[in-house]
Amino acid sequence: VDLFGARKNSVGVEFGDDAARGAFLAAVGAARLPERPALPIVGGTEIARPTRAVISPVDGTTRVGAVGEGDGETARAAIDACAAAFPAYAASPVEARATALDKAADALEAGRDRLIALLCAEAGKTLADGIAEVREAVDFCRYYAAEARRQFGVDVVLPGPTGEDNRLRHRGRGVFVCISPWNFPLAIFTGQVAAALAAGNTVVAKPAEQTPLIAAEAVRILHASGIPAAALAFVPGDGRVGAALTHDPRIAGVAFTGSTETAWAINRTLADKRGPIVPLIAETGGLNAMLVDATALGEQVADDVVASAFRSAGQRCSALRLLVVQADVADHMIDLVTGAAKELALGDPADPATDVGPVIDAEAKAGIDGHVEAHRAAGRLRHAGDLPGGTLARGTFVAPTVIELASVRDLDREVFGPVLHVVRYKAADFDKVLDDIAASGYGLTLGVHSRIARTVQQVIARLPVGNVYVNRNIIGAVVGSQPFGGSGLSGTGPKAGGPHYLSRFALEQVISTNT
Ligand code: GLU
Repeated sequence: VDLFGARKNSVGVEFGDDAARGAFLAAVGAARLPERPALPIVGGTEIARPTRAVISPVDGTTRVGAVGEGDGETARAAIDACAAAFPAYAASPVEARATALDKAADALEAGRDRLIALLCAEAGKTLADGIAEVREAVDFCRYYAAEARRQFGVDVVLPGPTGEDNRLRHRGRGVFVCISPWNFPLAIFTGQVAAALAAGNTVVAKPAEQTPLIAAEAVRILHASGIPAAALAFVPGDGRVGAALTHDPRIAGVAFTGSTETAWAINRTLADKRGPIVPLIAETGGLNAMLVDATALGEQVADDVVASAFRSAGQRCSALRLLVVQADVADHMIDLVTGAAKELALGDPADPATDVGPVIDAEAKAGIDGHVEAHRAAGRLRHAGDLPGGTLARGTFVAPTVIELASVRDLDREVFGPVLHVVRYKAADFDKVLDDIAASGYGLTLGVHSRIARTVQQVIARLPVGNVYVNRNIIGAVVGSQPFGGSGLSGTGPKAGGPHYLSRFALEQVISTNT
């Protein structure tokens, strides 16, 4: 089956080409930050709200822009507008929705350098992460447009006896609430919204509190590309806005990416309502492990571990938290990993030489620092890098850190930052180690570095995680190639960027006609 047709993923920047690199850096450097505040947008109209400044995590000082957050009333108005717009939007041709998403992809690509400048300033993204993030947002739009055409454009004709016509058709569910995280404030925001719209829903989107500006840009682009103003509402704000949206009896679905705790809270809210039974599509955290046996290639392991644990300052749900190494090679592997970690440049994310930028805010930094300090006091630190000085001293930086633990079970919560935990295992205890990893209850990403096919197969069969990566790093799932999402404490399972995602946002209707 050709699931992909002629669609191609977007391309990056050729950093090896001096002219291309220079032009890119100049364009990002010259980009202006948005002058307009991010305000709620309902029925295509901005709603005036008191504003507050959005401050950059890079130096804790630079004002990136302003946001006017919505409240319960704004949330209700957004649902009013999206409920009223739903019948007409749901009846619109699939081709019209797909064309709008394709146009939005083109506009995101055209605005790439400006969007990257904003991602650097607002979310502390490095340039490499910014490029990858814009590409992912573009790819989500084009992928879901193509999938909507393929899956929803025509009825699926089903078999039946003579004289009976059976067909299956998809339609939108109604008003979908999309709640997205700050760690992929453009890609995941756009991906959720594009999927819900492609499937024929109207959408109320709530971005993370920390990153409303880039999300507002995405909404403006979607509207300008032909998504009807009334079909997509935008309500920036904190958890109270999310709660108001999810409590509303008129919503038909929720797509959420964020913490496991918030997913539990949303689930509870949805379950307690007396009314339609509303599906939740949740993608949450992970306690992602990488198993490395004595046959693995050390230099490759070091490279893959450093990328998986420290890129994006470890602020990916897919990031590596637990490196589990066969004891015979552990000293060697740990030396290689700490050696490579020492080479990482921590600093201004807009500088192309920077590998690791800040974490998102002071609260995140305090939580990670507290975890590291407890292990430092217990003598478990194997490596801790230096923090940047000068104007960046006020930024929320956390240095890449390596902590050695006695057992997999000693790590019982996700630490969302550049902190890697290492555990040694003896070959005879391999099964027990797999049991311990499974016992965490998370199931998002998993790495295996081994040259023994049987070991790789054993690990895959034993651990029901969403995305397994063999002899490579475990981050950066590519739309259409590595559909992404996990199970258990990591989410409800649907795979973003995969062929079955859109159907989770749609209703299936079967029409059987006696002819
Ligand atoms: N899809 C991203 C990756 O593969 C992670 C998404 C997330 O952190 O939520 O790295």
